[in-house]
Amino acid sequence: MAAVRVGVIGVGMIGQDHIRRLTRVLAGSEVMAVTDSDLARAKSVADSLPAARMHTTGQDLIRDSSVDAVVVASWGASHEEYVLACIAAGKPVFCEKPLATTQEACLRILEAEVAFGRRLVQVGFMRRYDPAYVALKQTLSSGAIGAPLMMHCAHRNPSVPAHYTSDMAITDTTVHEIDVVRWLLDDEIMATSVLTPRRNRRAGELRDPLFVLLEMASGALVDVEVSVNIDYGYDIRGEVVGESGVATLAESNVITVKRSGSFMGHVPVDWRERFIAAYDAEFRAWLDSVEAGVPTGPSTWDGYAAAAVCDAALAALREGRRQLVALQKRPSFYD
Ligand code: NAP
Repeated sequence: MAAVRVGVIGVGMIGQDHIRRLTRVLAGSEVMAVTDSDLARAKSVADSLPAARMHTTGQDLIRDSSVDAVVVASWGASHEEYVLACIAAGKPVFCEKPLATTQEACLRILEAEVAFGRRLVQVGFMRRYDPAYVALKQTLSSGAIGAPLMMHCAHRNPSVPAHYTSDMAITDTTVHEIDVVRWLLDDEIMATSVLTPRRNRRAGELRDPLFVLLEMASGALVDVEVSVNIDYGYDIRGEVVGESGVATLAESNVITVKRSGSFMGHVPVDWRERFIAAYDAEFRAWLDSVEAGVPTGPSTWDGYAAAAVCDAALAALREGRRQLVALQKRPSFYD
């Protein structure tokens, strides 16, 4: 089978990691072109790859006839322009989250894709490919614990960079739970409240932690603890309470050690370590879907729904009260 010829827009931290994945971990693709607003960075990445040329703009890269499919890993505000250009060119596109930074922009992408007539977009919600979440989903789908009634989640980061804002606790951090609970419970989020517990003194001016409540259309309730200065490690927790049992994400270490009267395991230092297998599986699935011409994975609708919930959660945080999520009717195109 011919390799999928990929172009990468945005070769910062995650863009370079995806290139490593495409060139050194997974078979079946070749990186043919790269670009970045930092042209020196783009040139150095292009020079490190056997077949890649550097383009000075993302639009040039999308037009390049040697590029079959595009990875967008630039900053969020630029995603809409590049994803729309990929749809106009009829090229499959893997867009890192967020699909776009406003729900209106997501809707423009949705309308363009529906007008084009087939799915071209996969959004980078990689948790759907994490083996533990996949096992949780299979357990729920099997009916083993009955209908899901509640889910308790925690998203804990040891620390965050200086530019991180309280809004990013929703748009960059909680957004992963927002997507994964929609997928796990096969349900839409209809309303949200954001409570602000006692502030962590390690958090400076940040509103940290947050306690986010998500109300699902079925009536199930999800709570998400978001703690981004918790020091001890990167810890992702999830427990679904069903009618006749509970299903819980296990600790992510492969061994535990008992010694000197204590019981120990490893806590990942960051999200790269915790989700490395998920990113690999996500890109394997994307390459396979491009090859087969049958898109799978998180869709434009999922990117839009996540953006709409984030907007409502930001309003809930700002105004200190429950907000309804205003979702458009889902086009049957995304069934
Ligand atoms: P990053 O290290 O800052 O890299 C982004 C790169 O894109 C930078 O080199 C930046 O150049 C470049 N860029 C910015 N605007 C551009 C434009 N209009 N056209 C071309 N290049 C542009 O950021 P990152 O951490 O890799 O994040 C990139 C994206 O991935 C974000 O949307 C982020 O939310 C997402 N992400 C997702 C996950 C996940 O778990 N799925 C994890 C991390 C990141 P300058 O430095 O010159 O601005």
